[in-house]
Amino acid sequence: MAVPSVLRLLHRVLPRLGAQQARLSGGQLPPARAPDINSFVARTNTCGELRAAHVGQEVTLCGWIQYQRQGLFLVLRDFQGLTQLVIPQDEAHSHVRKLLSNAPVESVVRVTGIVSSRPPGQENVKMPTGDIEVKVETAEVLSFCKKLPFEIKDFIKKSEALRMQYRYLDLRSSRLQHNLRLRSRVVMRMREYLCNHHGFVDVETPTLFKRTPGGAKEFLVPSREVGKFYSLPQSPQQFKQLLMIGGLDRYFQVARCYRDEGSRPDRQPEFTQIDIEMSFVDQAGIQSLIEGLLQYSWPEERGPITTPFPSMTYEEALAAYGTDKPDTRFGMKIVDISDALRRWDVRFVQNVLSYPHGTAKAICVPQGVRYLKNKDLESLKEAAKCQFNQEIVDVICRPDGSLKSLLTKFLGEEQQSELKQVLNMQVDDVVLLAAGEHKQVCSALGSLRLESADLLEAAGMVLRDPAALHFLWVVDFPLFLPKEENPTELESAHHPFTAPHPLDTDLLYSDPAKVRSQHYDLVLNGNEIGGGSIRIHDAEQQRFVLEKVLKEDSEVLSHLLEALEFGAPPHGGIALGLDRLISLIVGSPSIRDVIAFPKSFKGRDLMGNAPDYVTPEELEPYHIHVSWPVAETEAKKN
Ligand code: ASP
Repeated sequence: MAVPSVLRLLHRVLPRLGAQQARLSGGQLPPARAPDINSFVARTNTCGELRAAHVGQEVTLCGWIQYQRQGLFLVLRDFQGLTQLVIPQDEAHSHVRKLLSNAPVESVVRVTGIVSSRPPGQENVKMPTGDIEVKVETAEVLSFCKKLPFEIKDFIKKSEALRMQYRYLDLRSSRLQHNLRLRSRVVMRMREYLCNHHGFVDVETPTLFKRTPGGAKEFLVPSREVGKFYSLPQSPQQFKQLLMIGGLDRYFQVARCYRDEGSRPDRQPEFTQIDIEMSFVDQAGIQSLIEGLLQYSWPEERGPITTPFPSMTYEEALAAYGTDKPDTRFGMKIVDISDALRRWDVRFVQNVLSYPHGTAKAICVPQGVRYLKNKDLESLKEAAKCQFNQEIVDVICRPDGSLKSLLTKFLGEEQQSELKQVLNMQVDDVVLLAAGEHKQVCSALGSLRLESADLLEAAGMVLRDPAALHFLWVVDFPLFLPKEENPTELESAHHPFTAPHPLDTDLLYSDPAKVRSQHYDLVLNGNEIGGGSIRIHDAEQQRFVLEKVLKEDSEVLSHLLEALEFGAPPHGGIALGLDRLISLIVGSPSIRDVIAFPKSFKGRDLMGNAPDYVTPEELEPYHIHVSWPVAETEAKKN
């Protein structure tokens, strides 16, 4: 009897000790053994590896010719760095000299030689291998490079389209090498954290599936059954919920997702999510998991991140920043001045304020008079008009403290000084003021806030610290939003599987537009890097949302609705946008800089030229006929 109970005790204590140890070391595993980067291959060392300690060793290096100088030196490059080779000049090595002096740059060579100290005074402190050089004994050109369309080091200056056409050449640049390797490291740490520390199971889900109602436009894939199409999933949402119903308990996947929405700097038709789902979890549980995951996988060179992340409700974010993804690295928050204007009886605003949701708000652009040109101010006002149909009135604080604006003739001296006080206006500040419907005013001012910040920075003001990391949870989103194209109908703010806020469940059946949800987004420096929710796990509630609120055909989701009837655990999850996250870590404006083979703005692969025409014969099994004659003409050409 004694033995099993000791075992049981150990069983209970050991995982806790493990967790304690992990916590003691700041949640970090002991450093792993350095990987062996020279195993299985024809080299002894990489081009970034050799130091003074290697002097005297015979080494074999493989790499690309970075440049060659007067038949005397050659710099060899690989993923790790550069090494200077000394081309032998003696007669016995004349064939080696000839070979290396004549090989064009970017040719691939293998050399064997002896590591030597550079002659005194010729060390290169800028090169990690700058203390040594390799005196070549034998050399072989493994692959000649024909004339390049441009030099690799000039690549960055070339147009993005050209770089994408020759993506494999662009990939040789140290910038892209760094980005892709960092991405790989971060994902590895995420896997460690999820699987090794927290028992998640990595499950692959299908990419050939069927349409999911609501949400993004999906890509169709023809099938051999007449008139039937697969859809490429916009996310593994349904599968991950079904995995919870299947008892997997903790799922994650580095998941490829597809949305037929065209590319933007931060969007691509195909992209990658770190997709997560857990059973028996609440919002706080998911948030702690993600904070721990990011802390654990965050690259050291970007400094530590502090948890827990602050949190803000959707309403607060909209009111103060005019967006559900606020950039909290700087102030210039939206200030509500409705009360003051109402009291002052300013005529033309009174009318607006009397409407339901009527409001007057403003942002104060610090030192706007000094940093913004007149044409900047005009273009800001024009943008608000074009994008949001919102008029903007500007107010300028003159050096003597008086205000200059269309508005001032409606305001007495006392009111002007109250306005300055409410908006904390200093000399040379510019206030942008808007009156209208709450959401429209907030959105317009939120957008002007960001545009003004860009203008101030372009003119030399230091507003945002480029090294700062402002993570923020945005919570308590509405469950539904009015459809843009028809505001009398509702659509899901996140997706149709999101559960209502527990305090608002009853409202779901009486006034769904007022229901808050258990949806949370993670924002970093004004960019949405993740989003998720606690899910509906009750079939009846899910059916009600689909049929009665969203007016969707629930038949499309009958498999999920049925699954919810067979014992569905409460569950929730989240997905992090990996491409965007990595691009923020490396400080790149475009996610295309962290994707090996990205698509162009128009969703094309400029290297392989996809999408491409296919012949009518190839279309036959799919019962598809392209009637556009150009397509056939083009297809025949191919
Ligand atoms: N599937 C959701 C999305 O792609 C994320 C989630 O709710 O877990 O946005």
